[in-house]
Amino acid sequence: MAEPIFWINPGRRKLVDCRQGLGLGMEEINDAADRLARFAPLLAALFPELALTGGLIESELLDVPVFLRRVFEGSGGRFAGGLFVKADHALPVAGSIKARGGVYAVLCLAEEIALSAGLISGPNDVYAKLALPAAAEIFGGFTLTTGSTGNLGLSIGVMGRALGFRVVVHMSTEAKAWKKRRLRALGATVIEHDGDYSLACATARQEAAGDPQTRFIDDENSRELFLGYAVAALRLNDQLAARKISVDAEHPLFLYLPCGVGGAPGGLTFGARLVFGDHVHCFFAEPTQAPCMLLGLATGKREAISVRDIGLTGRTEADGLAVSRPSRLAAAYMAPLVDGGFTVADEDMFLGLLQLREAEGLEVEPSSAAVLSGPRRLFTEPEGREYLERTGLLAVADRATHILWTSGGALISSDRHKAFRERGREAREARSLRP
Ligand SMILES: *Cc1c(COP(=O)(O)O)cnc(C)c1O
Repeated sequence: MAEPIFWINPGRRKLVDCRQGLGLGMEEINDAADRLARFAPLLAALFPELALTGGLIESELLDVPVFLRRVFEGSGGRFAGGLFVKADHALPVAGSIKARGGVYAVLCLAEEIALSAGLISGPNDVYAKLALPAAAEIFGGFTLTTGSTGNLGLSIGVMGRALGFRVVVHMSTEAKAWKKRRLRALGATVIEHDGDYSLACATARQEAAGDPQTRFIDDENSRELFLGYAVAALRLNDQLAARKISVDAEHPLFLYLPCGVGGAPGGLTFGARLVFGDHVHCFFAEPTQAPCMLLGLATGKREAISVRDIGLTGRTEADGLAVSRPSRLAAAYMAPLVDGGFTVADEDMFLGLLQLREAEGLEVEPSSAAVLSGPRRLFTEPEGREYLERTGLLAVADRATHILWTSGGALISSDRHKAFRERGREAREARSLRP
């Protein structure tokens, strides 16, 4: 039986003590933010849904007062400072958190190819030109390939096809049929694998090797994906400032992030630690059957250990988190930066998404829902309380801000959302909780 656990990372360091060893820093995050700004007019032209934000892909920071009252009342935590949902489940263009990393990784390649083909002359050129047929013809000579449990492929497919790239996505067993259909409708090639995510990645990597016209977007190692996610920390900083919410020693910030291979939560944590320093505390949520990052960090073996090595299946309804081995890059970065992690049974994800929908009307997929119990568990589980006491965070808990980072759901049909909620009701009945 896989029991849910709450884990505190003994390796977390103060930023001054680990910044030197990181390799990437604020300069690279700012560079990524600048690149996204350069491409914004092009994205606004390609995707009408981005007209309002001038081509920036960003989500709202939402108040969830009813959810807060219903779910956290009596949990021993004091959430007076506020509880928010960072609504990446509704990110435009790809409908998931992959609209940050996946889109950014494609734009990096497009820029490199456009520069070397002479389509643009430099970063000050007019990037909207890259929507013209002449650019699509150049991009069409290249194939983008990736391994995916679904959403990464979707995001790379949407962005890549919009620019005219050929796109080949290697899907692991978890990938849902509708995501494959959608990708094929976009003109992407989908290759289905009867194996897990690492296998899908390995096949894509192998195919790309030695072919200069094929570019592999490597979710297990990609610096570009990581930095695309990290930019979110700059945006969050602005959103908190707009609400006059401070982040400092007296006002800590807690982020609860869903973790698959670790690129998304890793990039967000990396960015957040650089922006908010030691005052942000990041916790990763993973399925009980696929806690690859927690296992990699707790054992120190990082990507060298798989959840299968300890008898877990890697199987979960949270398809975005169905990964049995963490990203090498993300695991290395997270070792000194992340505060900890916790694992969640699938039934609790279904129960969480039901509660969030009942309280706030938000519809998220199971992967997103993994984070929802984070604050309660931090304040109620012995490991969490001990950590809060030891670090002095308990004394300022009244002034803390907690953010539940949701990551997918917007593209899922209402019938599927209904079926998710049905699973939540079954879980609630099984526990004979009141409705
Ligand atoms: C990919 C994904 C995650 C996790 O991101 P990783 O980079 O794999 O850790 C979380 N939620 C959803 C919906 C996803 O698609």
